[in-house]
Amino acid sequence: MKTAIIGGGAAGFFLAITLKELCPQMHVTIFERSQHLLRKVKVSGGGRCNCTNTFEDVRDLSAVYPRGHRLMKRLLKGFSERDAYAWFECHGVPLTVQPDHCVFPAAQDSQAIIDCFLRHARRLSIDLRLSTPITSVTPASPLLVTTPSSATTPSVSTEGSPEGSPEGFDFVALTTGGQPRLDSLRWLADLGHEIEPPVPSLFTFSIEDPALRALMGTVVEGAIASIPGTKFRATGPLLITHWGVSGPAILKLSSYAARHLADNAYRAPLAINWTGLNEEQARAELTALLAANPRKQLATLRPFGLPSRLWHYLLSKATASSTSAPASSTLASSPAEALSKKTLNRLVALLTADAYTIASRAPFKDEFVTCGGVALSAVNPSTLESRHCPHLYFAGELLDIDGITGGFNFQAAWTTAHTVAHTIAATLK
Ligand SMILES: Cc1cc2nc3c(=O)[nH]c(=O)nc-3n(C[C@H](O)[C@H](O)[C@H](O)COP(=O)(O)OP(=O)(O)OC[C@H]3O[C@@H](n4cnc5c(N)ncnc54)[C@H](O)[C@@H]3O)c2cc1C
Repeated sequence: MKTAIIGGGAAGFFLAITLKELCPQMHVTIFERSQHLLRKVKVSGGGRCNCTNTFEDVRDLSAVYPRGHRLMKRLLKGFSERDAYAWFECHGVPLTVQPDHCVFPAAQDSQAIIDCFLRHARRLSIDLRLSTPITSVTPASPLLVTTPSSATTPSVSTEGSPEGSPEGFDFVALTTGGQPRLDSLRWLADLGHEIEPPVPSLFTFSIEDPALRALMGTVVEGAIASIPGTKFRATGPLLITHWGVSGPAILKLSSYAARHLADNAYRAPLAINWTGLNEEQARAELTALLAANPRKQLATLRPFGLPSRLWHYLLSKATASSTSAPASSTLASSPAEALSKKTLNRLVALLTADAYTIASRAPFKDEFVTCGGVALSAVNPSTLESRHCPHLYFAGELLDIDGITGGFNFQAAWTTAHTVAHTIAATLK
């Protein structure tokens, strides 16, 4: 029996190793289009590979998997984050958990995961074919896997298979990762698979506001970023950058609103709540602080533990928008008791719903995943087998499953790969 795994990334290797361990008699081949295996694993997590998460802070899976949370809920029962943790430790990669629940190799180096996968692939005699892009799979028995040399596109040398002849496999698993271009999914659509158009997720926002950008380097720990008029909002650390805003709250918001922002050409209003509190709570806390420090200069107060540069900026913004308020320098140096009701209202509004406009998606790919891909309606949710082509399976980011930062995307790769490996093994039995 032969299985072809198309894509030598995280899901492809995990699937190949799991399958070979379950069915040593299976001949397993990984086809990788580039000259490099596991390239994204290498660069992931800033070179450390945030390979999973303890999920301790996760109350609702939809908060960490904006696409695919229902399917993940089902599949995690078969292979959870704890199973992934145990798998890596059993396969020779000691792990460590950070206080924020993110899990990394104890070596703090993604190479530890790569070395593990390559070592076990060698031990299990998994056939690795580099520089072998697969352009189509023909539904037949066996399934026919075609490389460009055997199709009409220019020749690419393939090791092991005669150039130009499609190779037959009993099972094929597609683990080709996020496909940013709809074109590269066309052949799957031609086989009948529903496709969710791919759009980027996990990006930062450009904001054309020189006064805000002047605060670059400022971090606010418990900010809330939201898109007014929608349900999209995200909480967490927010970083002001020289192009706009970044940090976990913004990456999360970009993930929740990935499709909405794409539909609006990445122009949208943005509200920032610098306090993490609702308006009423913020007003009460600020009023109490003012009352407790009537003689103190406003500039020295630093409510909500805000960085002083940000507090001064908000004071001057409150002044700028209020004709009755004193000049900004005067307001900052005024005693707390001199703050008028009107300026207090304005300050509370700025602290809890400071308004900006997202001008574009920032061109930096800190961590980038694709929202969209093969629609979940195209697969059997228990087995991840195609509903349109028997013995064809999907795993990893090619599916319309994507998570926020924190190790959730790799966990989806491990869980879906595990599901497919076990399905193929069960078919044999
Ligand atoms: C910079 C960066 C950092 C990241 N950091 C993290 C992190 O710390 N934690 C986390 O959970 N997630 C992280 N991610 C996301 C994570 O890397 C992906 O979700 C994960 O790699 C998806 O695994 P995959 O196997 O589905 O796809 P990939 O890892 O992308 O692998 C797909 C493979 O298929 C190959 N391929 C594609 N088409 C073909 C074809 N036609 N024929 C043959 N081969 C083909 C590709 O060359 C590639 O090697 C990061 C992503 C980026 C870009």
